[in-house]
Amino acid sequence: MPVKNRFAELQGEITEWRRDIHENPEILFDTHRTSALVAEKLQEFGADEVVTGIGRTGVVGVIKGKSDSKGKVIGLRADMDALPILEATGLDYASKTPGAMHACGHDGHTAMLLGAAKYLSETRNFDGTVVVIFQPAEEGGAGGKEMCDDDMMARWGIDEVYGMHNWPGQPTGSFAIRSGAFFAATDQFDITLEGRGGHAAKPHETVDTTVMAAQAVLALQTIASRNADPIDRVVVSVTSFETSSKAFNVIPQKVQLKGTVRTMTKEMRELAETRIKEICDGIAATFGGTADVTYIRGYPVMVNSEEQTEFAAEVARKVSGDCVEAPLVMGGEDFAFMLEERPGAYILVGNGDTAMVHHPEYNFNDEAIPAGCSWYAELVEQRMPSA
Ligand SMILES: [Zn+2]
Ligand SMILES: [Zn+2]
Repeated sequence: MPVKNRFAELQGEITEWRRDIHENPEILFDTHRTSALVAEKLQEFGADEVVTGIGRTGVVGVIKGKSDSKGKVIGLRADMDALPILEATGLDYASKTPGAMHACGHDGHTAMLLGAAKYLSETRNFDGTVVVIFQPAEEGGAGGKEMCDDDMMARWGIDEVYGMHNWPGQPTGSFAIRSGAFFAATDQFDITLEGRGGHAAKPHETVDTTVMAAQAVLALQTIASRNADPIDRVVVSVTSFETSSKAFNVIPQKVQLKGTVRTMTKEMRELAETRIKEICDGIAATFGGTADVTYIRGYPVMVNSEEQTEFAAEVARKVSGDCVEAPLVMGGEDFAFMLEERPGAYILVGNGDTAMVHHPEYNFNDEAIPAGCSWYAELVEQRMPSA
């Protein structure tokens, strides 16, 4: 079964929505125009319920099937936010807002889920209920968590959730997925090391924080090389090293280090957090200074449930003929919060030979629309077949 004919018919219309959203990017929770557009379309399609303001600017739409003999509810999620990037595509529908850009293809995700919602509202050829979830602030703002915190899962009785992301470098409209841990937990650390500043020609009268911090940067690398089991994965990257001195002849009082930790299991996340604190305290004590470590937990590991992943892959194979195993991604994904609350799966749809996401020349590939929409629609019709 290839893509649904109806989506071949709707592709032009869905592409117009996508390009309109692309031209009007909105960052984090400021998705006011996009959210209004989504709500208006859902009303126009005849959704049974449209609720705005879930997770601040998130939108939820409810579409009931022809029958509801089992009371099953499937959630389908798309993200709506753009990135603070100056667009360099030169497209005629490029961003009209300098410094904001749909560089992750969330314009495409929103348009594809709207397309699926239109089809599902027209046909209602399923036994149960579909909840379409449009979230703000995927890019670092945890909008998905805010929607969950607004009790979304319980309020609409959602049993399972599914999400999709486009993937540059993967053949257009093809699918890739993996069961279990898929996207990494993304944490940050902020370390302040303090010694005793002084004259650079009299180091013996100071506690040189720069030397202390340099040792800390090197020692932090041993979390991955010496503490972690080699078959597990962890990234510890120090990305900022700033001394409190701008002068060539002053030993600084303080050094601030910043960076990120990426892990694939809860245990590894705990280990990294604990070791960062121990290493910094130990190094500071060795050199006679102090360490203040703030560890900020970001998105958790995104874990696809086994049963739902198998089902999602089966549907993807029906739509595009194949579904390969996706690689692990050390980036983060806010959908992780929804998958912590309900079983479900997240799939990648190929965006073809385009620039990578978050690049100023990236653009969502409209040719992926029929496959993406068909996957959502087939998933619903096959997971909740009409009697
Ligand atoms: Zn992104
Ligand atoms: Zn994204």
